Amino acid sequence: MPGRPPHDGQTAGVRVLWRGLTLACPSCGGRGLFRRWGLFAIRERCPHCRLKFERMEGHWLGAVAVNTVVSATAVILTVVVAMLVWGTDVSRGLLLAIAAPVGVILPVLFDPVSRTLWTAIDALVRPPTPADFD
Ligand SMILES: [Zn+2]
Repeated sequence: MPGRPPHDGQTAGVRVLWRGLTLACPSCGGRGLFRRWGLFAIRERCPHCRLKFERMEGHWLGAVAVNTVVSATAVILTVVVAMLVWGTDVSRGLLLAIAAPVGVILPVLFDPVSRTLWTAIDALVRPPTPADFD
């Protein structure tokens, strides 16, 4: 149902977060939130329920934080796995050659997901009001 706030059942929180992880609108689950894949390509509103994504100034800083946490975790995990595979005396150059691409490429690829995931988290913390829909 377009325009319906996401808090309507016991599993609403999990469903809203899943929608965020799968690039869907946190409110209606609709797709097509991006004009194209890439940075800054998210639409201003959901094309289905008309939820405005940037409901307050600075909204996207939360997406940057989500992206930073996920990317930094991936870099650390990459280093840990490399040290488990090759031992703790693996060269710094090899670690850098493996971890740097993860730290550079992942944030770009994860950007769209970080935006929809952050919008879902925001919808859980601050449920949309009728004024947030067109
Ligand atoms: Zn929607």
